[in-house]
Amino acid sequence: MTELLTRAQYEQIASKLTFPSKAIIDGRSVEAKSGRTFATTNPATGEKLADLPACGPEDVDAAVASARQSFAGWAKQHPAVRKQALLRLAQLIEDNLVELSVMESLDSGKTILDCQTVDVPETVNCLRWHAEAIDKIYDQVSPASNDHIALVVREPVGVVGLVLPWNFPLLMLAWKIGPALAAGCSLVVKPAAETSLTALRVAELALDAGIPAGVFNVVTGSGSQVGEPIGRHMDVDAVSFTGSTETGRRFLNYSSESNLKEVVLEMGGKNPSIVMDDADDLDAVAAHIVNGAYWNMGENCSAISRLIVHSAVKGKLLDKIVAEVKNWHVGDPLDPDNRVGPLVSEAHYRKVASYLGDGVKVLHGGETSKGRFVHPTIVEVESNAARHAKEEIFGPILTVITVDSLKEAVAIANETEYGLTASVFTGNGKRAMRAARALRAGTVTVNSFGEGDITTPFGGYRQSGFGGRDNSVHAHDQYTQLKTIWLDLNDDETADF
Ligand code: NAP
Ligand code: MG
Repeated sequence: MTELLTRAQYEQIASKLTFPSKAIIDGRSVEAKSGRTFATTNPATGEKLADLPACGPEDVDAAVASARQSFAGWAKQHPAVRKQALLRLAQLIEDNLVELSVMESLDSGKTILDCQTVDVPETVNCLRWHAEAIDKIYDQVSPASNDHIALVVREPVGVVGLVLPWNFPLLMLAWKIGPALAAGCSLVVKPAAETSLTALRVAELALDAGIPAGVFNVVTGSGSQVGEPIGRHMDVDAVSFTGSTETGRRFLNYSSESNLKEVVLEMGGKNPSIVMDDADDLDAVAAHIVNGAYWNMGENCSAISRLIVHSAVKGKLLDKIVAEVKNWHVGDPLDPDNRVGPLVSEAHYRKVASYLGDGVKVLHGGETSKGRFVHPTIVEVESNAARHAKEEIFGPILTVITVDSLKEAVAIANETEYGLTASVFTGNGKRAMRAARALRAGTVTVNSFGEGDITTPFGGYRQSGFGGRDNSVHAHDQYTQLKTIWLDLNDDETADF
């Protein structure tokens, strides 16, 4: 791992960074056809970092046409050729790890600590993993009779739209471009308007890595002007989306009202963490809960958002959580000592801060500070019906609910419209396994908080997910379709052998 630098060193790098300022369409850096731009800013200071093209439907058309044209050649390459190109891209990202970390931190408010130790290294790891997988995945021969051969082959789905959120700009890009490029698809990427810089930089690096022009387009702009035209495009074969449940739903409408493109949605969560009275090592539990709740400012679809704790250990656990939270310093994201930066935008800050008013019972924190900072906060509610227990806050606010049995805890955990992740802490292996089976979520962790890793599928049950999974070889299903090739071997001369 590259060593962390000092705040002064990061500031020095930041002062010298050149930000991308054009969209990437057909291998070229271009303005929006309309000539319009929008500013991307640094959430920590409100300062403008760059003006970016405010693209529209006509730019989406150009990107889709270029993706379509490049698709045939890219899809026909030997998988090992695409593997080498992706490996070169991963290497270029690693070579630029510090610069990309600083760019990501400046554009999103994410801490440099997370960018440099998680987001960028995991991006590299993800691309390498899918690159290495693609020339090791075999197609199938079906159990047909001696008179036939039936092949079940995977083909790349075609031109794919990738619509991304602002909370992990680079890593969500990697989760999608890794399997999509490996599979042989051509891409039209729409990064979140607030955080487009690193996607543009990676698309530049992709050209340097030898990924052909038109295979990896990045179209910057708003959801309505770029996201919707991608969703409704008649020549886009599939869309993979990560973002809110509200926007995800729209993509199903766009698809049904256009060409029935395939749609995969990764969306919100209201993730429960159950801590029972027989949990081992409450210090370790507290560390997991704090990490799960406050990592990335809680701007995390898999964040622990509801702590469902047994009454017998509640007081002791909360004391340990409060002690642990004190190590999570709030402030300038370019200071590697800080673990909580500003929220991504003024609008999002106002939304999160609205959960601190209304006579809510605050057990810890509850403060905000200038520059869109919300300090790690714990609130307690009487029941799971309370607003704080139902709505996705997407900020550093943990809601505590008290229970007296595992059965009650699991019932409350499942009482949500979401189902992305869940965790359970108990020293009893049988109960842990029973709870893991009963919890309705795409990922359940036992005695830990996490999302699995690149080898395990990630996605949600119920209104957290639709249509497929990111990560692992299962992610390739999003970007491929199955074809049956049926060969009849009947022939007069050979019929008898
Ligand atoms: P969002 O508002 O749904 O935006 C996601 C993307 O969709 C952005 O690129 C956005 O464009 C675009 N978009 C917005 N409105 C659109 C429309 N009408 N038509 C087409 N595209 C549109 O979500 P967000 O606020 O960026 O991200 C936070 C949410 O994402 C949270 O709810 C979180 O739970 C979820 N999330 C889920 C996962 C997961 O894997 N399940 C991971 C991360 C985040 P703009 O740039 O213009 O906003
Ligand atoms: Mg920004």
